[in-house]
Amino acid sequence: MKNICKDCGKCCIETEMLLSSKDIARIKKNNPKHLKITSFIRRTEEGFNQLINVKGYCVFFDSAAKLCTIYDVRPQGCRFYPLIYDPDKGHCTLDQDCPRPEVFYPNKNYQMQTCKKIVRFLENQVLFTKL
Ligand code: SF4
Ligand code: SF4
Repeated sequence: MKNICKDCGKCCIETEMLLSSKDIARIKKNNPKHLKITSFIRRTEEGFNQLINVKGYCVFFDSAAKLCTIYDVRPQGCRFYPLIYDPDKGHCTLDQDCPRPEVFYPNKNYQMQTCKKIVRFLENQVLFTKL
């Protein structure tokens, strides 16, 4: 799979990415650093599972190589990014921090389709499966 995020990683700085139970199971199986689950997940006050940061970067980011070390199995939220859901506004927006959003989302139609998937993902796999 081509990694179009190579040499970037702006979204891997101080990440707040939420993880579904499927994300956790997939990463646990394909975990190049053989990290214990408690070394890559923290529990938020609200009870959600979130990626841990180390020295300001996602624990899976190689800051020297500027590369996600679990790119092929990265969390679903990282795959949806730079499209993100804003719960206050009730719609999705392209995050301005990403320098190449048009590569991922070349048109509005695709953004709208993916936004529906993000909402379903959050409702079914993140919000209702918190531990
Ligand atoms: S899992 Fe990969 S893409 Fe997602 S925040 Fe961590 S390093 Fe970045
Ligand atoms: S999704 Fe955007 S911000 Fe994140 S690593 Fe890829 S190009 Fe950079």
